[in-house]
This record gives sequence, C-alpha cells and structure tokens, in this order.
Amino acid sequence: MTSFADLGLSDTLLKSIKACGYENPTPIQEKSIPIILMGRDVLGSAQTGTGKTASFTLPMIDILDAGRAKARLPRSLILTPTRELAAQVSESFNQFSQNHGLTKALLIGGVSFGEQDALLDRGVDVLIATPGRLLDHLERGKVLLRDVKILVIDEADRMLDMGFIPDVEKITKLLPKIRQTLFFSATLNKTIYKISENFVINPKIIEISPEFTTADTVEQFVCHTTPRKKHDTLRQLITSENVANAFIFCNRKRDIATLKTSLNKNGMDAECLHGDMSQSARNAALTRFKNNEVKLLVASDVAARGIDIAGLSHVFNFDVPSNPEDYVHRIGRTGRAGNLGKAFSLVANDDDKSAINAIEKLIGKTIPSVDSGNTGKTTSKKPNKSAESTTNAEPASTAENSATEKSPTENSIAKNVTQDTARTDAKPSPRRKKPTRYEGERDAPPDCSGSSFKETEHTPAFLLNQTA
Ligand code: AMP
Repeated sequence: MTSFADLGLSDTLLKSIKACGYENPTPIQEKSIPIILMGRDVLGSAQTGTGKTASFTLPMIDILDAGRAKARLPRSLILTPTRELAAQVSESFNQFSQNHGLTKALLIGGVSFGEQDALLDRGVDVLIATPGRLLDHLERGKVLLRDVKILVIDEADRMLDMGFIPDVEKITKLLPKIRQTLFFSATLNKTIYKISENFVINPKIIEISPEFTTADTVEQFVCHTTPRKKHDTLRQLITSENVANAFIFCNRKRDIATLKTSLNKNGMDAECLHGDMSQSARNAALTRFKNNEVKLLVASDVAARGIDIAGLSHVFNFDVPSNPEDYVHRIGRTGRAGNLGKAFSLVANDDDKSAINAIEKLIGKTIPSVDSGNTGKTTSKKPNKSAESTTNAEPASTAENSATEKSPTENSIAKNVTQDTARTDAKPSPRRKKPTRYEGERDAPPDCSGSSFKETEHTPAFLLNQTA
C-alpha cells in the first residue's frame, strides 16, 4: 500500500499529516499529489468525502514553502462555489500547514471587507475565495492576481449549476498564463471537459469513481403523502422516529422559513440554513445545531455537500430533489464514519414519483415505502434484496474508490464520456478501473517523468522566478 512518504512530500509535512491522524493516502491523494508536485495541471473528478481537499492542499503547501508573499499579491488562489466549502478548505490548510510559516486569507461574503483587506495588505500565500467576493475585492483594487502561480478551481460542476463560470473566467483572465491549474469537479461530463479547456493545459486526468458506491449505513425510505398533508406527515415521521438530530431539506429557499415556523408552532425547535442568510447567521445556526441546542435544521442544498456533522441520525427530504445526485449528497450527511442513519423522502405528487424513479435508477436500488405513523413497517414496494442492504451513496470509505486516469485529448473525451454515462454509472466498468492510456494521449513533459518533484530535481516553469 502506498504511504504518504512515497508521494514525495516533505518531512515537515509528513509530520503534520501524522499529527492529523491520517495513516494512508486516499486514492485521489495517491494519484494527484505526485502529479501536482511535478507542476502539471490536473483535471480531477472527485467528490467531497474522498479526501480531495488534502489532495491539493498538501502538495500546495510544499510548493509554496519555497517563497514569500508580497502585499496584495497572493501566490495561489483556490476558488470554491460556497462559503462553507471555502471555510473547510481553509481549515484543511490550518491543519496541514501547522509546521510551515504560510499565510492565508479567506475571502467569503458575509464577513467584513476590513478584516479581509488587512490580511491582503500583509501578503498571503494562499487565497481561498468564492468568486463573487473575490470580484468585489478586485473591483476595489485591494488584491492583484498577477503573482498567482497555482490556481485551484474546486467543484466546477457546482460552479456551473450556480452560474459562477463567467465569474471564474473573468477572474482567471487576471492571472498569469504560466501557472499551474488544478481543476476539480464531482463529475466529468462533456460540458465540464469543454469548460476545463479554458483553464487547464495538457492536464493529467484523474478520475475517482464510482461516485455512487453503496454502504450499509443509511436506511432509506419513501413516505407517500399529499401536498396538503406534507407538514403533518413530516411531523409524524419526526415523532415516530427516534430523532437525535436531523437535516430537513427543501428544494426552494422560500419554503424553508415556512416549514421552520410550522415546526416551531408545533413545539419542534428548528433552525434554518440557506444561501440567502448572512454568513454570521449561517454560522450561528450551524453552531446551535452542532451543540445540540436545536435538533432540526431545515436547509437548502447548500447544506447537502461538505458539511460534516458527527452522528447525524436522520435526513428528511421534505421535497424530493429533482436532481438525483442531490439526493445522494443529502442522504450522505447521515450514516457517516460507521454510524447508522436513516433517510426519509416525502412523495407528494407525480413529479416526486418521477424524481424517486430517477434516484432509484441512479443508486441501483428500490427504496421501500413506509407509513409516516409507523415507520417500522414498510407499506408498498417491498424492498428487493439489494434495497434491504441499505445504501449510503456518497463514498463512506474513501479507500473503496478506485482511481482511473484518462486521456486529456478532446477526441477521446468525446468518445469515452457522455453526460449520461458520467451520471448513471453506478459501478465502474472493469475497463475504467485500470489506468488507461488513450490513443493520442500526449506524454508527460520529459522533465516531469519521475515520480516526484524532488526525484526529478525539476523546477517547474511556474516556480522559476520564485525560487531564483
Ligand atoms: P474531503 O473529501 O476533502 O472533504 O475529506 C473528507 C474527510 O476525509 C475529511 O474529514 C478529511 O479530514 C478526511 N480525510 C482526508 N484524507 C484522509 C486520509 N488520508 N486519511 C483519513 N482521513 C482523511
């Protein structure tokens, strides 16, 4: 088994990794770290939960260790679609750079400009930002991107869904052309490949699949109801289940406050979490929830990814998500780290039924129905054999993921990846498990052919002026 020491990371960093309790690299870390240390661009497909954050933060720390930041000229930039993800990347840097003298700024909305300006003025090695807030700073002339040597675009598919790609393009136009770019997306489909071409040059393609592996830690159910009875049904479910703490997902932000009020009126204390709330209000809600001051968090999909609440007992889909992948992310908030969890989805109309069908197709299992007042008893659709073994679609064990490298050439991409296959491949085909070299794939640059930056004694072009 590959160890962190085999990946070419510095001894100082190995010490920090050990202090964090990580024993072995996850597949995305094993594949990405040596490539990033060599200075190559990466086009990576991996979900949150696979160890993706460390796969880029770790090599970045070693690369940035050789150099100093100047005022208002950050040396690296990480763009994430949401404030929560940005905060988690920032935490990851704090953990791993404990033995390095690197500086960092987190530019996210909802925090005062003053604090962020002060950090930028002192000079930062790592700038972690959401696109909107970074553009605000750029327009105010508080930050210049011409010294950025490494750019990370995280969760590109999410950026696309949220309409951020034009902002990302605007930002990258301000970066030097000679740089290293690490482009990550949960799925690699044709659209994402096409978009990536604007950012990466001859990238190493690293795909961690499957996205939707199953684990036996989340029991899933659907509960049939009507639009008028949805509130009652949810309350019945909460009452009949032994809920320690639960996320309740709504599809529309405007329904979140209504649902919270209705729960409160019925003696169920609940908090809200959605993208229109200020950062301080979001933090306050999450803190109350994490401290068990409130058992229920009514949320939009902003809470479906990345947020890690230890021992969350239940997820309720007040609305069935129309995108089956969102279902996977939502229910993956529970049943983590070996704990057991339950997920219930309210099916109130034909659209919900179609959405459930699409979800069942994606996860390859039938979800049994229960009665809201008697959740111990399944009512219709008997679970088939595979449904009896409950599922957790987000990778619970990162080690179970298999890594596949692909060609960066446009032709092979067009031939080998379609949006549909990227979305519905519940299991990787045997062919995708093996590293594949496609016809037409270009060689790695000759000075990048060793297995690590140190081994090749190569200084990538983007680092030349900083180490000189
Ligand atoms: P991420 O995919 O970056 O959101 O990481 C998901 C979780 O896995 C986080 O709680 C990390 O701290 C943890 N993690 C990442 N890499 C490793 C590793 N090599 N060994 C153990 N845990 C890890």
